[in-house]
Amino acid sequence: MNREYDVLIVGAGAAGLYGALQFPENIRVLLISKRELTLSNSSLAQGGVAAVLDLENDDYQLHIQDTLTAGKNKNNKKAVEVLVREGPDDVRKIKEMGVDFDLNEDGTMQKTLEAGHSRHRIVHHKDSTGRAIVEALIENVRNKPNVDICENTLLYKLEKEDKGFLAGLLFPDGSSKIIAAHYCILASGGIGRVYQYTTNSAIATGDGITLAYMLGAEVKHLSRIQFHPTAFAAENDRERFLISEAVRGEGAVLLNCKGERFAEKYDPRGHLAPRDVVSNAIMLESKATNSEKFYLDITHKDPGFIKNRFPMIYEKCLEENIDITKEWIPVFPCQHYLMGGIDVDLNSRTTVDRLYAAGECSHTGVHGANRLASNSLLEALVFSRRAAADIINRMCSDDNASFGEFTQQEDLSGKPLPHGFRTEIRKLMQDCYFVIPDPAIAPESLKRSKEILSDIISGGYEINRDFVEARSLAMVAAIVFKEVISKNDD
Ligand SMILES: Cc1cc2nc3c(=O)[nH]c(=O)nc-3n(C[C@H](O)[C@H](O)[C@H](O)COP(=O)(O)OP(=O)(O)OC[C@H]3O[C@@H](n4cnc5c(N)ncnc54)[C@H](O)[C@@H]3O)c2cc1C
Repeated sequence: MNREYDVLIVGAGAAGLYGALQFPENIRVLLISKRELTLSNSSLAQGGVAAVLDLENDDYQLHIQDTLTAGKNKNNKKAVEVLVREGPDDVRKIKEMGVDFDLNEDGTMQKTLEAGHSRHRIVHHKDSTGRAIVEALIENVRNKPNVDICENTLLYKLEKEDKGFLAGLLFPDGSSKIIAAHYCILASGGIGRVYQYTTNSAIATGDGITLAYMLGAEVKHLSRIQFHPTAFAAENDRERFLISEAVRGEGAVLLNCKGERFAEKYDPRGHLAPRDVVSNAIMLESKATNSEKFYLDITHKDPGFIKNRFPMIYEKCLEENIDITKEWIPVFPCQHYLMGGIDVDLNSRTTVDRLYAAGECSHTGVHGANRLASNSLLEALVFSRRAAADIINRMCSDDNASFGEFTQQEDLSGKPLPHGFRTEIRKLMQDCYFVIPDPAIAPESLKRSKEILSDIISGGYEINRDFVEARSLAMVAAIVFKEVISKNDD
């Protein structure tokens, strides 16, 4: 690892990896991920990537309209245009890079339908599209001599300098180092772990959002949180396994505790309505029936088709003793995605000079109030490419001289962080804002989250992963509660 880089990329999901691949060999890039490279929300993506790849049967305008409808027209329309019109080329590029999309006999990519889409336009690799993308991109990044990859390397602080940033990195053996970079792309993913129940991977603690906020970057709409209506309703399991929208797209029916279809009562689109609508319908039906028991039924489909189309879901449910070819799948909503984040422009620039954000940690505005299924991997690709292009452009004119001398070590020792902060934050979030926010308890939740944050920051604790993640969760929760109180969702 060098002491200075041109670009630091924080995150090895779709956004970080694809961003890293854009830089030519004369630009030195450091790419870090706080856990192993394959542990990310990107790796968990099942359904696929939405893109208009077949102009005979689809249309950019339709994808734009579907995105705006799902987003309740609160989207940034320019960003949606960019996403929809540029995205197909990025999908073709990652296919060329080796992503093993499922193909038709004529060699074209298979396209499936997902909730909220008016056309079959979701390309996929069975039901583990994210893993296929991440593995192919990692292989490509490993072949780039200008990109140093450091996994299990945590960014614990980011300081602004005139010529870029000083970044504090923490390694698995407990050692640390400060490096300098002229530009930083935060591709650090979402915030799911601020909830008790989430589909998100363990890395989703909002670190990038917190570090950007601490630098003064504008953070927008953190309370725009998407709850997926159909996570596997395992008992006592924090990371809930997702039963992809594609299962409903392929014909599964959503049932209440009495085995009745009910989604049409709440919206004419029924169980194929956008996620927030279906999640809300489940919560309202749950109140009406006084039960949290809900099911997906796909047993009417051919077992061979189910096993071939959803091998991972089939296997995972089998591990939970449910054979989905014969039995209903128990489901319930859980936290799934963050629409808000670090506010960026169309080139992924944040409000802090030289700081960029891409992927789930960013707020481009493409999703509006609610993300359309399979638009997020697309967003990660399009806007990380744009961030890289913008950096490459401005490198000619910016002052990128060496940083000179700076301290490369600092003392991170302190008291061990007491147990319980993270659990308490998760409970506050779950109670105050699960699918339907409860503004009445938000002021008390805000007060408590601020107390916890202040204790973490000024308690003299050792700076390690627990500390960084607890600080992020408390910060994210406090921002969300503040938004719930102000009810400002414009
Ligand atoms: C179960 C599931 C299914 C999904 N299915 C789909 C789908 O079918 N289609 C779709 O479009 N979207 C889907 N999504 C959403 C989509 O996967 C994510 O929004 C997207 O992949 C986010 O990519 P990202 O690169 O922004 O972040 P991530 O892929 O989450 O990567 C974040 C990276 O940041 C690193 N990081 C975080 N903090 C630090 C730190 N402090 N220091 C160093 N590194 C750090 C992590 O280690 C990780 O490498 C799904 C999400 C989930 C959870």
